[in-house]
Amino acid sequence: MAEAATETIAAIATAAGAGGVGIVRLSGPRARTIAARLCRRKLAPRHAHYVRFSDADGTTIDDGIVLWFPAPHSFTGEDVVELQAHGSPVVLQQLLARACALGARHARPGEFSERAFLNGRIDLAQAEAIADLIAAADSRAARAARRALDGVFSQRVDAIAETLLALRVHVEAAIDFADESLDTLGGREVKTGLQQALAQLSALLAEAERGRKLRDGVHAVIVGPPNAGKSSLLNVLAGSDRAIVTDIAGTTRDTLHETIRLDGLELTLVDTAGLREGGDAIEREGMRRARAELQRADLALAVVDARDPLAGRNAVADVVAQVPQILWIHNKADLLARVADDGDTVVHVSAASGYGIDALHRRLRALAVGGAEGAGADGEFSARARHVEALRRASTHAENANRELGHERLELAAEELRLSQDALGEITGRISPDDMLGRIFSTFCIGK
Ligand code: GDP
Repeated sequence: MAEAATETIAAIATAAGAGGVGIVRLSGPRARTIAARLCRRKLAPRHAHYVRFSDADGTTIDDGIVLWFPAPHSFTGEDVVELQAHGSPVVLQQLLARACALGARHARPGEFSERAFLNGRIDLAQAEAIADLIAAADSRAARAARRALDGVFSQRVDAIAETLLALRVHVEAAIDFADESLDTLGGREVKTGLQQALAQLSALLAEAERGRKLRDGVHAVIVGPPNAGKSSLLNVLAGSDRAIVTDIAGTTRDTLHETIRLDGLELTLVDTAGLREGGDAIEREGMRRARAELQRADLALAVVDARDPLAGRNAVADVVAQVPQILWIHNKADLLARVADDGDTVVHVSAASGYGIDALHRRLRALAVGGAEGAGADGEFSARARHVEALRRASTHAENANRELGHERLELAAEELRLSQDALGEITGRISPDDMLGRIFSTFCIGK
């Protein structure tokens, strides 16, 4: 796929700091020779040799295990060597320095994964999944990243891209028979095929959006009129006394960040300054920040006083309208003589007494993953904002193609199909716009 790299790279592959065992990894054409000189012995493929690692003057740096994975059956697809020594940062630095003196150079961040990608060992979404697996904050996110690494996501992207390609070939062939109508040239099959591809794209988009939330966490904001009990609720959900609770309207001047994890999802609660007009300069700054938070929110927890919910709703309806999901929370339920049953649309709680807080947790969890509670946990894969955005573009172009087909504008339909296919190709890296690879791999840490 790519030209073979001429340089041999080296890096400490284990985490910074002391540990029982530490690993220096080498990849490239000289990896084997460099390792053989460091260990002063010949290496057999995939054999664990117990050796002493020597410095230039023959003194021992450490003893340990050396492993050689000959190309192409290695992580990067090149000759790879692992030097396993005691996990001392000093020892590992000495090994790395010696490897570099023998002809290797320090690897850039993500360079091992980048080489694995360039040599066709993994696709781009899989390379990203490695970084996501390593960074996963809990077992659910780790499992989702592991599935993406196994290609669960990539295979579905590729399958849709192949369908689009087949449809495009068909449409392009029909262009050459401009005198005949599309229907006589198998147009009905093309249209049905495209409908199916559109449905698959929209299902995959929904799942990728869930996967993105698993990776990045769901960003939720708390909003509501002053004194509705936002800070109190935040304290209850976060289990601390982080926000200041008083009964003077306009106390909460700043946006406060508190993050809680629910069922593997990260909910960042932003207690916004009461969204009322006027106020002093500090309050206006708080309101500006609150609006900025709302713009990037996935979910709004709209808190209103249960005794007069309508007034509260009117006060914040405009502000929350732009947030993709809204949960209405009627707080101070303890002050009601009777709690009405509003079904799924409203959660009644009391931050003061704890009434309804369990139910609120359940609702949050369901809203956060999207769909039914815990839905899709078995098949879910991690995804990134970049993937979601590419899938959206692929959908839009496929919809455009569908419209153009309806008008029998075959050239335009073929072009839209190509654009849709290209957008999918960006996910797996079969198509890579300028410097996209550099941007992606530079966010990896060294040694990956
Ligand atoms: P915020 O301005 O929306 O952040 O409201 P606060 O959390 O500061 O609460 C305003 C006032 O309402 C405080 O006096 C709280 O003690 C009170 N409060 C908050 N939640 C409840 C509740 O569930 N029941 C009752 N009775 N009072 C509450």
